Amino acid sequence: DVYRAAENRHDQLPTARCGATGLVLPRISLGLWWNFGDDRPLATQREIIRRAFDLGVFHFDLANNYGPPFGSAEKNFGRIFAEDLRPYRDELIISTKAGWDFFAGPHGIGGSAKYLMGSLENSLRSLRLDYVDIFYSHRPDPDTPLEETLRTLDLIVRQGKARYVGISSYSADQTLRAQEITRELGTPLAIHQPSYSMLNRWVEDEPSLLAACAAAGMGTIVFSPLAQGLLTNKYLVDDPASQLTSSRAGSSLTADMLNEHTLTRIRHLDAIAKERGQSLAQLAISWVLRDQGEQTVTSALIGASRTSQLEENLAAASRTDFTDDELDAIEHYAVD
Ligand code: NDP
Repeated sequence: DVYRAAENRHDQLPTARCGATGLVLPRISLGLWWNFGDDRPLATQREIIRRAFDLGVFHFDLANNYGPPFGSAEKNFGRIFAEDLRPYRDELIISTKAGWDFFAGPHGIGGSAKYLMGSLENSLRSLRLDYVDIFYSHRPDPDTPLEETLRTLDLIVRQGKARYVGISSYSADQTLRAQEITRELGTPLAIHQPSYSMLNRWVEDEPSLLAACAAAGMGTIVFSPLAQGLLTNKYLVDDPASQLTSSRAGSSLTADMLNEHTLTRIRHLDAIAKERGQSLAQLAISWVLRDQGEQTVTSALIGASRTSQLEENLAAASRTDFTDDELDAIEHYAVD
């Protein structure tokens, strides 16, 4: 069956400018960390990606090691891209990353020029692309000079292999230092990808990463806004541990996180969601996208294992208004 994208796809989802750049992102983007490896039917993957694009999600986020096994998500996406999405290449924002372990040996992890260049070449082959829209240093590497990592990002843009570059999980201080270096090189970082959710506030702690990104002219795309599924109705059942997905090896969501203390907090947050006429997942996404002035998050980066989750979640992008009472109640229950 030949895929034709929905005509009205650009009217479906709000967008936001990514910091002080020309890049604009949908307020909700789809990540392929889980659910796009070889353990999932390609037909389901295709259905989720097509539905996402029809509903206005034009940004898809990958990394060299997404799967399982490592690398399979890029290959599966590459196939779906070649078969369905190629006519829409100019509309798509496709990102990938390198930094965590991927190849064997010392240049298969970290932030060296050797690793980043080799990994991106490999990703482009898997993704069946000439260039990615965003390439990230996936994490700070204490053993490689920051200058080497950033010089490599600059070179990648100059070689036409990426349109924009970004960093993930760097601290506020590292981010400000990095942006100073990249400004001198001539290719400022466009975006930062940190984790952020009602339950995970590190980006707000002093010195604040959100403030650093705003000061540096960088946009933010926040991962795991649903705390990997914890902030959904998935675990609000009699036997929450039975809902843990065994294939999520390497996931930081473990059975001991499903303790009574956390579950009680989640039940209270669910009640706040209901008051707003939202599901808990919708509340969690709306909350990360709420107005924070110049520190407002550009895009929420979600995962989904089926189209019904995706559809439920996308509705959150048009409900980002909060009363002070709602925000206070969320602070009361979400923060220890
Ligand atoms: P989320 O917090 O959005 O969790 C997604 C999971 O929550 C889904 O896989 C699904 O679980 C469950 N879920 C989603 N919607 C619903 C719903 N409406 N109802 C019930 N359950 C739901 O994000 P992820 O942790 O998956 O991360 C998102 C993306 O962020 C990744 O794909 C990746 O692109 C990026 N990321 C980046 C990292 C980095 O270091 N830069 C690290 C981690 C993620 P199930 O599959 O069990 O159904």
